Amino acid sequence: TITVDQLTDWLTRFRDLVTEQVSYLTELDSAIGDADHGSNMTRGMGAVVEKIHASPAGTVDELFKGAGMTLVTSVGGASGPLYGTFFLRIGTTAGPRTSLDAPGLAAALRAGLGGVVARGKAEAGDKTMFDVLSPALAAFDAAVDVSSDLSTAAHAAYFAAQTGRDATRALLARKGRASYLGERSIGHIDPGAASTALLFQALVETLG
Ligand code: ADP
Ligand code: MG
Ligand code: MG
Repeated sequence: TITVDQLTDWLTRFRDLVTEQVSYLTELDSAIGDADHGSNMTRGMGAVVEKIHASPAGTVDELFKGAGMTLVTSVGGASGPLYGTFFLRIGTTAGPRTSLDAPGLAAALRAGLGGVVARGKAEAGDKTMFDVLSPALAAFDAAVDVSSDLSTAAHAAYFAAQTGRDATRALLARKGRASYLGERSIGHIDPGAASTALLFQALVETLG
């Protein structure tokens, strides 16, 4: 199982990673976007962690609904509503529990992905965060099917996330600002794919 404290640690580590890699995320977004993905993610996750510190969450839904609402309201770019909806759906799916077992976390993450798709309409190969989230969650689910060990599942998800991130380099963007570039979007890693890989790196760090 994973507790609310560990899930809080996950979000905090994600904040730390996007902050450490703010220049990298900005650089990726300057190649195919408007150079604000690093600042959007650090501002958004900074606000999320500040809010949690000010009033710690007692349940999984409180934690993720709070995080989602904060991202939606504090980040103007596409990533605010997308990550925001991802976290909101995790919260509503998990409900007022104080911990999640492996299938519970898998189901919550999958609902989160459903939220991203409902909002952004991205499909596989569109060169977005979907191209990391979808294979990462497929790997997570497959691992959870054979063992309830969350650390193993997180490692599997992170491995798939890195592969998905790197594969976005060859893709032509069909969603978001990068799609305005057409063929010129090819040859660059998608910024949202890169930040989403950091989300799974943070989960690995949390679970050990
Ligand atoms: P903006 O593009 O508004 O400046 P960001 O730079 O913060 O916002 O985030 C850009 C990222 O958002 C992209 O790299 C991509 O991964 C993701 N993205 C954009 N549009 C969509 C969409 N429709 N569905 C899924 N992800 C998307
Ligand atoms: Mg941008
Ligand atoms: Mg922007």
